[in-house]
Amino acid sequence: MEIRTVGIVGAGQMGNGIAHVFAVAGYDVLMTDISRDALDHALELIRTNLGRQVTRGRIAQADLEAALKRIRTTLTLTDLGQCDLIIEAATERETVKVAIFEDLVPHLAPHTILTSNTSSISITRLASRTDRPEKFMGFHFMNPVPVMQLVELIRGIATDEATYKACLQVVERIGKTASSSEDFPAFIVNRILMPMINEAVYTLYEGVGNVASIDSAMKLGTNHPMGPLELADFIGLDTCLAIMNVLHDGLADTKYRPCPLLTKYVEAGWLGRKTERGFYDYRGEVPVPTR
Ligand code: NAD
Repeated sequence: MEIRTVGIVGAGQMGNGIAHVFAVAGYDVLMTDISRDALDHALELIRTNLGRQVTRGRIAQADLEAALKRIRTTLTLTDLGQCDLIIEAATERETVKVAIFEDLVPHLAPHTILTSNTSSISITRLASRTDRPEKFMGFHFMNPVPVMQLVELIRGIATDEATYKACLQVVERIGKTASSSEDFPAFIVNRILMPMINEAVYTLYEGVGNVASIDSAMKLGTNHPMGPLELADFIGLDTCLAIMNVLHDGLADTKYRPCPLLTKYVEAGWLGRKTERGFYDYRGEVPVPTR
């Protein structure tokens, strides 16, 4: 079966990037969110980011216009039911994701493939809350979606080969590269990346270095393009904390315990770039370290 229509749940940092790449690749996109503002903001961002690609000569002006025409938005989740493929990219909380899938199920076409962009939550467990665990996959994009080449594809225990192959073809058509991961907490990328970020926060918490010295040490000392705290702000500190909790709970190993300082930033609502404050304050001309 050919996939033509793609439903996206959640129009945040990831949802807007996912809508962008699917529309450019020629898919019809229907995006939903609980917030009208989030949908409007996503459309604005997509226009800006497509404009940047035109300026850089990556796509033509006509491609920009055509891509924007392919994206529709709705506040009604169940409008997505007839899409060939649905990618859930809502807030990283299991109760939120389970509620979305349970609400969607009665409205789905029989052939619809369900996927989640979760960074860490068990695909097998999410799939088990639907009527089609064999047509359920992890479809994990990297941030920013239009720039990053990788998509992690995660098969739940019940995912069938046809669903995996269909998703693999989609990844190729949007011009990205897939890497397959088994369904264990945080999969491959975040299983390795997030403990490093958490350790950077411990390094800050214990006073080994300040924000600037930790980030510059890792950039200049290990050739990482961004420091770990800068990267944490970029990902979202709530998402980082949620992933650490999934690793800690799912693998039952104290080496994954989230740093109390990470928890404190999240409790303050200092979630990184998306709230203009995290390990850096983004409200001025240049980011200023908060510690
Ligand atoms: P975000 O906070 O920017 O956006 C989440 C969006 O989901 C918000 O607009 C919110 O209004 C919406 N939402 C919440 N509940 C909803 C519901 N019931 N129905 C519809 N929309 C709902 O978060 P994000 O960074 O875009 O992350 C989204 C997902 O992508 C998470 O699962 C996260 O783990 C994953 N992810 C994030 C990154 C990253 O670097 N931020 C990378 C890969 C994957």
